[in-house]
Amino acid sequence: MSEGPKSHGRLSIRASLVPRDLMGESPTLAQAWKARIVTLFPGAFPGVLGESLTGKALQEGLWSLETIDLRTFGAGRHRNVDDTPTGGGAGMVLRPDVVSRALDEGLRDTPRDRKRWPLVYLSPRGKRFDQATARSWAAADGITLLCGRFEGVDQRVLDAYEIEEVSLGDFVLTGGEIAAQAMIDATVRLLPGVLGNQASTEEESFSDGLLEHPQFTRPNAWRGRAVPEVLLSGHHAKIAEWRRAQAEALTQERRPDLWRDWLARKGEA
Ligand code: SAH
Repeated sequence: MSEGPKSHGRLSIRASLVPRDLMGESPTLAQAWKARIVTLFPGAFPGVLGESLTGKALQEGLWSLETIDLRTFGAGRHRNVDDTPTGGGAGMVLRPDVVSRALDEGLRDTPRDRKRWPLVYLSPRGKRFDQATARSWAAADGITLLCGRFEGVDQRVLDAYEIEEVSLGDFVLTGGEIAAQAMIDATVRLLPGVLGNQASTEEESFSDGLLEHPQFTRPNAWRGRAVPEVLLSGHHAKIAEWRRAQAEALTQERRPDLWRDWLARKGEA
C-alpha cells in the first residue's frame, strides 16, 4: 500500500505533537514531581512516557521530565565521554570527570536529603526495583537518574556521590534508558491525579503483597467461554471475596516468595 496524502497528514500531525515539546522546566511545574535523566541519548525521552496516562500527566504538569546530555560535558574538542577500562578488557567505561559534571547539573537546586531527592544509577548490580521503591520515589520531590552505557561508569564517581544502584532485573541491557523509563512509569502512575481512578493502584498486583485477580470485560460469552458467574451477580461482597480468593491462589501458585511474605505479615497482624 502506498502512503496516501491522508496518512502523510496524520504522520505530520503526530510529528508536530512530538512529546519532547512537553519536556523542560515550566513555572507552573515548580511543585510537581521532577525526573532528571543524565543520558548519552536524550532523544530516547520521553519515549513511551509521552504516551497515554503518563504523557497526559506530563502535558498537564503533574510531573516534569528533563534530560541532561552527558555528551555536552565531554572532555576536549571531541567531547569524549569514555575511555578504555584500566587494567584491560573489552569495551569502554564512562569517565568520572565527565559523569560528575553532568551529575552536578542533574542535582542543581535539589534537596540534599536523598529521601527527598534520590540519586540513582541504573545498574544490573543494583538492588532490584520493586513497587515499594516506586512508592518511596513517588513520595520524594523528584529524582536524578544516571543511565550508563558501554561497560558502565568509573567506580570512583559512584562512590564519591554515594549513588544508589538500582536494577530493573537480572538481565543486561545495552543502556540505562529503558530501565529509567520503566521505573519512572511505575513511579509517575502513583502520583496523585495521574491515574483517573486512584482506587486502581490500591487493588492491583503488589499493592497489598498479592498478585491481582483475573480481569474480564464484555462480551460475557466469547468462544464458548463464559465470564465467572459471580462477577455478573452485582453482589459486591461476594465479588470481593471471589477476587480475594483468586488473588491468593494465583500468588500461592506463581510466587511462593510473595506468598510466604504475605502469610508472615498476616500472622503478625
Ligand atoms: N558491564 C556491566 C553492564 C553494562 S550494561 C555489568 O556487567 O554490570 C550498560 C548499561 O546499561 C549499564 O551501565 C546500566 O546503566 C544499564 N543497564 C544494563 N542492565 C541493566 C539492568 N538490568 N537494570 C538497570 N540498568 C541496566
